Amino acid sequence: MAINWTEAQIEKVVASVINDLRGHTVQSECRYDAKSYEGRTLVGVYEDMNDAIAAANIGYKAVRAMSLEERERVIANIRELCRSEARNMAVLGVSETKMGRVDHKIAKHILVADKTPGTLDITPTVKTGDYGLTLTEMAPFGVVGSITPSTNPSETVICNSIGMIAAGNGVVFNPHPGAIATSNYAVDLVNRASRMAGGPDVLVASVVKPTLESADIMYKHPSVRLLVCTGGPGVVKSVLSSGKKAIGAGAGNPPVIVDDTADIRKAGKDIIDGCTFDNNLPCIAEKEVFVFENVADELISSMKENGAYLINAEEAEKLEAVVLVDKKNPKTGVISKVISRDCVGRDAKVLLEKIGIYVGDNIRCIITETDFNHNFVQHELMMPILPIVRVKNIDQAIDLAVKAEHGFRHTAHMHSKNIDNLTRFARAVETTIFVKNAPSYAGIGFGGEGHATFTIAGPTGEGLTSARSFTRARRCVLSESFRII
Ligand code: NAD
Repeated sequence: MAINWTEAQIEKVVASVINDLRGHTVQSECRYDAKSYEGRTLVGVYEDMNDAIAAANIGYKAVRAMSLEERERVIANIRELCRSEARNMAVLGVSETKMGRVDHKIAKHILVADKTPGTLDITPTVKTGDYGLTLTEMAPFGVVGSITPSTNPSETVICNSIGMIAAGNGVVFNPHPGAIATSNYAVDLVNRASRMAGGPDVLVASVVKPTLESADIMYKHPSVRLLVCTGGPGVVKSVLSSGKKAIGAGAGNPPVIVDDTADIRKAGKDIIDGCTFDNNLPCIAEKEVFVFENVADELISSMKENGAYLINAEEAEKLEAVVLVDKKNPKTGVISKVISRDCVGRDAKVLLEKIGIYVGDNIRCIITETDFNHNFVQHELMMPILPIVRVKNIDQAIDLAVKAEHGFRHTAHMHSKNIDNLTRFARAVETTIFVKNAPSYAGIGFGGEGHATFTIAGPTGEGLTSARSFTRARRCVLSESFRII
């Protein structure tokens, strides 16, 4: 597995895409739907969820019959196709969802191909002693039911497939309906990789029209032994209430603290780089900043040098009216603010145009100074809009940042050289990922150590999922024997 992704490699990919696509405006050049791409029928996509589960069950039996070496061959093909078709999936993803950036989506696919662990992630353990030997092996569950989001659609399908197949499972997907063509393209890619390696034609399966009803069939079907949900709070709650073993990878609202010991120029660049990655779609991306007041001006100036556009309170009010809309709870009648799906993952330039501000392509983030209670701080916007709150000291910074994270325990960031402050915040916020002095994406292995995943399971505790997360432990006891000392 290739681990090192150099800056030069990233720049090369990005430059070629930018040349091809004139910025990241996607031409709707390809023909696609939930069942086909450019006239080719996608393999593994069914009208009925029951048929998809039956196909995934056959896939599971085929994986069970494979040696580890054969599984690795399938996974190697998935990696290869994921790299060579990264651009297709990136263009398709932006075209279908109208969210994110082609250049960054290419980088996300390459990351998945390079840094998602395969079968080596599953290690047995052995205990020997007076009574002999006990072996614990990590076995598959069977068919895994996976719910995937619109924000990293093909990335999540491929990343989950690699880990779940490495663990010996079959997989059935109920993808996000808003990204169904992109998700099903990835399902077909996994199946092509299987066929290339001599595996079954259908190893993983999906449906043409995913709905809450098709998800419910998946929850209740006896062949589906594990549910893995990657999405917002509603869907995570629904799988956790299913009565089945479930892995929940839910929402975040990652705060960033910048104290006055940090390298402020670098912090400004890192924060804008992380916050604007795929237009802020990743759940780990920086969502609000708490900065010491004595370094706030310098931080804002560094952000502006790195593609941020500062708007004033009046402009922020106009923007808020566009990106957050009223929604009435049908049960209680209470009206609350929710994000406008039309604005999620859109370019900063496009969002600014909505309030009559016209900027060049160099602007990639909108920044604004707010107080803690502002909706931009409290809501997970998933847009390149970054509220900045001035704080007096580390006590206030930690207090507010922990509150802004809303107890999701997902991701938090800090820029500081003060080891005590770093440790205090990490302990207080209790997040699954804590990134120090780097852009957020270092937390998923992009310019940081460690494996990659797009399913970060905070609520159920698996953390950054990988093949071993999709296994169950089985013990074999060999009494009074097999000890060689
Ligand atoms: P979403 O929550 O709108 O949808 C996720 C999936 O769940 C979709 O397939 C959707 O159709 C389905 N769904 C929604 N409600 C359901 C229900 N009650 N029962 C069954 N299925 C249901 O997600 P999205 O907007 O595409 O993704 C963004 C959200 O997901 C953000 O909150 C983000 O933080 C989170 N996310 C988390 C991770 C992670 O690893 N923790 C990764 C990506 C996204």
